[in-house]
Amino acid sequence: MSDTRRTTSRGTPAGAPRTDPPGEHDPDGPDPRTYPARAVVDLEAVRDNVRALAGAAPSAAVMAVVKADAYGHGLVPSALGALAGGATWLGTAQPGEALALRAAGIGPDRARILTWLYAPGAALRDLVEADVDVSVAARWAVDEVVAAARAAGRTARVHLAVDTGLGRNGIMPADLPDVLDAVARARAEGAVQVVGMWSHLAFADEPGHPTVAAQADVLDDAVRRAERAGVGPELRHLANSAATLTAPRTHYDLVRPGLAVWGLTPVPQLGPPSRYGLRPAMTLEARLATVKRVPGGHGVSYSHHYTTPRDTTLGVVPLGYGDGIPRHASGGGPAGTPGGPVLVGARPGAPGGRVLRVAGRVCMDQLVLDLGPGATERAGDVVTLFGAGDGVEHDGVPTAEDWAQAAGTISYEITTRLGGRVPREHVGVHVLDDGARAILAGHRSTERTVRA
Ligand SMILES: *Cc1c(COP(=O)(O)O)cnc(C)c1O
Repeated sequence: MSDTRRTTSRGTPAGAPRTDPPGEHDPDGPDPRTYPARAVVDLEAVRDNVRALAGAAPSAAVMAVVKADAYGHGLVPSALGALAGGATWLGTAQPGEALALRAAGIGPDRARILTWLYAPGAALRDLVEADVDVSVAARWAVDEVVAAARAAGRTARVHLAVDTGLGRNGIMPADLPDVLDAVARARAEGAVQVVGMWSHLAFADEPGHPTVAAQADVLDDAVRRAERAGVGPELRHLANSAATLTAPRTHYDLVRPGLAVWGLTPVPQLGPPSRYGLRPAMTLEARLATVKRVPGGHGVSYSHHYTTPRDTTLGVVPLGYGDGIPRHASGGGPAGTPGGPVLVGARPGAPGGRVLRVAGRVCMDQLVLDLGPGATERAGDVVTLFGAGDGVEHDGVPTAEDWAQAAGTISYEITTRLGGRVPREHVGVHVLDDGARAILAGHRSTERTVRA
């Protein structure tokens, strides 16, 4: 961050190309030597979001779901931020993610970890040896977990997944007797400990939807049947972020929020993140590459889906779909859709900024903004695609939710698909305890940038 490339030539001499010289290099922004953009992830926000979720589900423990690289936020630092907020569990879809957390130094003393998605032949023995809890969603999975436990010479901790109505992973209630029999035998042998029984909701993001209570009823019934079979679980869990925030009936012993841990709301129709005490942890910002004057009637980006309405200034933002910016968030075109929003002229929360929409097509590596005829921006200035706010409509800070709306998707997809080539910088490290900081320091030497 010490590179202060400075230039003092600010005028545009007559006859010179009408492309602005770069502005003063703002050292508080993406490091242009490495990448012209960055995602800053605030671990203090992660901590506070988990606290808010724990407050919403006071009877339950919190499992922070950190699958898919913590929804794009960076697996290990984000997990540590969530633990700082009081989460005692971490959840991952894939076994490799769970093992990566253990390998980074997050031991069972620091967090229980559950992983739930694997195919026959997965390295379950590694999970058992790493003290990772394993979901069992089919009869074959019982057999494989038992084989892994025998090979490891220790008891596997399992959670029985029940399909209570989502129609995805999980044991159909009709198949429960067979699975419960096998689990009872495995338990008698000491191969498994039934830690949990759990399920996942289909309509949690539509609060009050009748299937939410119906799925809870099916889970209750499955738990009763497991108890009768002598393999009752220690814990029941069902709630994702939306249910944690809106459906107390689903809280049981443990809640499994993902999206809300990162400060985004799964129920944007009910209000902005702050309504639930959440604040987005990720800020995506970039430096303007080129800033230049163009005449009116100038087509912009592929297929000219935007044409300048007057003499104006264009700014090129060096982020595109190769970085995970959805091409569906292009602006203009036959449908005249508004593109994704970008805050220009000030950082989020500071006065004086304005929100512009992507002009024309989002390309692989770049997108274009019409900065307007009176623009004072210069190449190198920092613009914000989304950040820690409540949204364009609420406080003028664009959010991942705004981008999701521009692209016709959900905010989950915006942060999760952010490209691996965009550097993540983790700030707010002061919220971590010494042990967590030591883990992060070890991790920093092997992975992405961490700014202390
Ligand atoms: C992703 C996931 C969650 C978290 O869902 P959010 O909507 O992000 O809170 C919880 N449980 C399971 C099984 C999941 O796959």
